[in-house]
Amino acid sequence: MNNELYWRLGFFISILAIMMLLEGLKPARQSLVAAKHRWFANFGLVFISSVIARLTVPIGLTALAIYNTEQGFGLFNLIQLPLWLTILLSVLILDILIYWQHRLFHQVPMLWRLHKVHHADSHIDASTGLRFHPFEIVLSILIKLIAVTALGAPAIAVLIFEIALNGFALFNHANIRLPKKLEQVLRFVVITQQLHRIHHSQRPDETNSNFGFSVIWWDKLFASYKPYASETDATLKVGLSQYPASKKNASVLTLLLMPFK
Ligand SMILES: [Zn+2]
Ligand SMILES: [Zn+2]
Repeated sequence: MNNELYWRLGFFISILAIMMLLEGLKPARQSLVAAKHRWFANFGLVFISSVIARLTVPIGLTALAIYNTEQGFGLFNLIQLPLWLTILLSVLILDILIYWQHRLFHQVPMLWRLHKVHHADSHIDASTGLRFHPFEIVLSILIKLIAVTALGAPAIAVLIFEIALNGFALFNHANIRLPKKLEQVLRFVVITQQLHRIHHSQRPDETNSNFGFSVIWWDKLFASYKPYASETDATLKVGLSQYPASKKNASVLTLLLMPFK
């Protein structure tokens, strides 16, 4: 756990670089706003969100997991299961929780004000996968802190989960289209780019589907899976109609103030 930061950063930078390279080589769709404006806004927001989260949340998820294990707090510290099973169950349960958290952020108007910052992007690429309002990030961390404690999840499971969540977000927002056969096989297991773009559709019935971030199972289990949209992946209208593609709608300040307007 001493090398946590290196593991996180290593995966983050590698996956981001691979996705941006693929997007540059063969983009699936074209943006109406220059990439430099969107990237400045999206990466700027990530930076601000990270700093605010760092300053407001007093403890990291893995540090809390270590503390819980030492103190014997939480379900998996009370019942004795093999370590591999505890890790597997912890990661899966945390992932189901994130699925439901995502549905909640769509369902509750106050929370949607925060989450719409993610959906208001007029184009989708890997940078969209990181674009969340600081308040949504902080709320999400607090929910995860409670879940990690209730579960008594081991620190290694928390680290695997965080790296996977981050990696999958970069993967399924990437502006790429996988070869058809590969996509058809992959969508049995994971949320592909085409499936997540349906979640970013301007049509409410399409936005309210494919809530998962990593595996597709929860959407199938809880009846929110939508394999195809009303339009093709190339013509699908993404974003929010009230925030059309413009330089103004792709600025850090607009994104920060969006929930309060
Ligand atoms: Zn959403
Ligand atoms: Zn998204």
